[in-house]
Amino acid sequence: MLKRWGAVIQNNYRTPSITLVKGKGVVVTDADGKTYLDFLGGIATSVLGHAHPVVVKAVTKQISTLSHVSNLYAHPNAIALAQRLVEMTGQKSAKVFFCQSGAEANEAALKLSRRTGKVRVVAAQDAFHGRTMGALSLTGQPSKREPFLPLLKGVNHIPYGQIEAMRKAVTKKTAMVIIEPIMGEAGVIVPPVDYLCQLRALCDEKGALLVIDAVQTGMGRTGDWFGYEYSGITPDVITLAKGLGGGLPLGAMIALGKAADLFQPGDHGSTFGGNPVTTAASLAAIDFITSKKILRKVRKQGESLIQELALIPGVKQVRGAGLLLGIELESLKAGDIADALQEAGVLVNAANLTTIRIAPALIVSDLQINRFISTFKKVIADAK
Ligand SMILES: *Cc1c(COP(=O)(O)O)cnc(C)c1O
Repeated sequence: MLKRWGAVIQNNYRTPSITLVKGKGVVVTDADGKTYLDFLGGIATSVLGHAHPVVVKAVTKQISTLSHVSNLYAHPNAIALAQRLVEMTGQKSAKVFFCQSGAEANEAALKLSRRTGKVRVVAAQDAFHGRTMGALSLTGQPSKREPFLPLLKGVNHIPYGQIEAMRKAVTKKTAMVIIEPIMGEAGVIVPPVDYLCQLRALCDEKGALLVIDAVQTGMGRTGDWFGYEYSGITPDVITLAKGLGGGLPLGAMIALGKAADLFQPGDHGSTFGGNPVTTAASLAAIDFITSKKILRKVRKQGESLIQELALIPGVKQVRGAGLLLGIELESLKAGDIADALQEAGVLVNAANLTTIRIAPALIVSDLQINRFISTFKKVIADAK
């Protein structure tokens, strides 16, 4: 099967080492019938795990009723989901644009910022905001950018978590500042606790939109809905994707306050945006997370994971919040450990050369977490 991958799939990804064919909860099965504890969750995406009954039911019902309407017509699911997202921001004035992916959500934020009449953007070095040309212009990773230069002009990348660097970079000419509450792809990097608050004050002073890229931290992953709430700030824009669709492709750009009315008819669009099936999945996932008090569980599990993982010999530091954690290794290579974990039946990924990232489904049980920890311990001990 994987030989065929190389023949028909373009060379932009490395050929994967396994083919997954089914899943249930936090367990996935490959084409050879081997099962894995899925501690990556499709890169922080499958918030309710695989084949969750509430998602299956909602999607099945919707797809057999009406699967697509385009943006020329309204659909109750899109309206209901937008309503939920607005409530989750705590700002009645918020308004939602739906798309399919994180890159598109950030593209939408970028276009929205042009409607301020300004064009300059400040973003963080090493930040990841997506791969399309606009989103890639925001992304601060040279290896991903350089083959595709020139990108958009006027985007300034400065060190993450350093408010002084921001103070030098953000001016009255800045249209927007985009920042991840925790940098996911860069290796689960957490900023100083007062960073977002100081950034909010700076953006207010200079009249720049503050865009929170919650594509990876969103939908309860950190134990809060979007990942910035601990800071007490109100952003101007929040972008979402990954977990938003409960495992289905759905993205959103939420604009708050004055920013909510920047787009005018004809300014932006997406044929699939607010699709009835993906929004049904999202609503089902949000209902489940809310009614089962999953956020509280995620917070507690994150705290105990950080404590327990940090005690393992060979682990230098554990960063993150809730169920988005980066395990930095002292000397072992993260890629080798990720491979060894896969061999041992656990899926994770190497977010950078020294950091293992875990982002399991939010429904993961304490038992499954203990199984992960004991396998991780054994793999590290064997590798030393
Ligand atoms: C994954 C990610 C994106 C891009 O999302 P796609 O759906 O792959 O386009 C953007 N921002 C952050 C923070 C991400 O983690």
